Amino acid sequence: MNAPNGLQVVRSCVEAHTAVRSAQRQGLRVGLVPTMGALHEGHLSLVRRSRSDCGFTAVSIFVNPTQFAPHEDLAAYPRTLEQDLAKLRRLGVDLVFAPASGEMYPPGSTTFVDPPQVAATLEGERRPEHFRGVATIVLKLFQVLPADIAYFGHKDYQQTLVIRHMVQDLLAPIEIEVCPTVREADGLALSSRNVYLSAAERQRALAISRSLRHAQQSFIAGMRSAAELKHQMRSILEAAGLPEIDYLAVVDAHTLQEVAQAQEGVVVLIAARVGATRLIDNTVLRQQP
Ligand code: AMP
Repeated sequence: MNAPNGLQVVRSCVEAHTAVRSAQRQGLRVGLVPTMGALHEGHLSLVRRSRSDCGFTAVSIFVNPTQFAPHEDLAAYPRTLEQDLAKLRRLGVDLVFAPASGEMYPPGSTTFVDPPQVAATLEGERRPEHFRGVATIVLKLFQVLPADIAYFGHKDYQQTLVIRHMVQDLLAPIEIEVCPTVREADGLALSSRNVYLSAAERQRALAISRSLRHAQQSFIAGMRSAAELKHQMRSILEAAGLPEIDYLAVVDAHTLQEVAQAQEGVVVLIAARVGATRLIDNTVLRQQP
């Protein structure tokens, strides 16, 4: 069942909260898809999943300043609200919450979430304030939009762990669902940042997913040494002209600690720069993909 009035777009926390509570009073299960906009099929897959699980779907669109470092791309980040709303309307979304920055960070606000231990490595090491910003905005969104379930993408694997731990540690009354990474036909993981890539850079960026597929195939063929898997992946990346690898890690799926021996369920994660654009991707190693 969906709101008979179609898509409601709200900018204030009070209106957003009221809309979610009123859907719940009607007995509807509410799904939330937090995004920074510039929506692509990856985001839309989360929306479709919420639509199939829940009677009411809310999407937030907010480019969260506190998860960007001063030298990062906050100002340049793509903002395409009208196109986003058209896509969400077509999918039958009930509510879009698109607040201004001051709505989420009232003047004088100084309270932040201290992120869990899993935030310390990988992205957290390279982007020291990033997960503090992510955890803070996600908790705020959960307060404003008290949904029953929230949907996140596996593409940002470490982020999903940060959120799961935060929800558990801070007793947030919400279920977390993680959905598979959506890719282009040639393997490139969809990302709002892909619009920054020139045609030549996009071609080079394909080495990221290619190296992950290679790791998966080597694993199926019996390769277990994490060092050797990383060595082979690095060769693929470097041969494609991607020498700027921020990290390449084979880790335990729960702790994110590096493992020496790959086994079923370990996660391989990459962050690499393609020109000025920083891309991340990952895969879970499985005997039978
Ligand atoms: P963002 O707008 O980049 O903050 O992403 C919003 C949500 O969409 C996050 O939960 C992301 O993990 C998810 N997402 C981004 N790209 C993809 C993708 N290619 N496939 C699936 N989910 C994605």
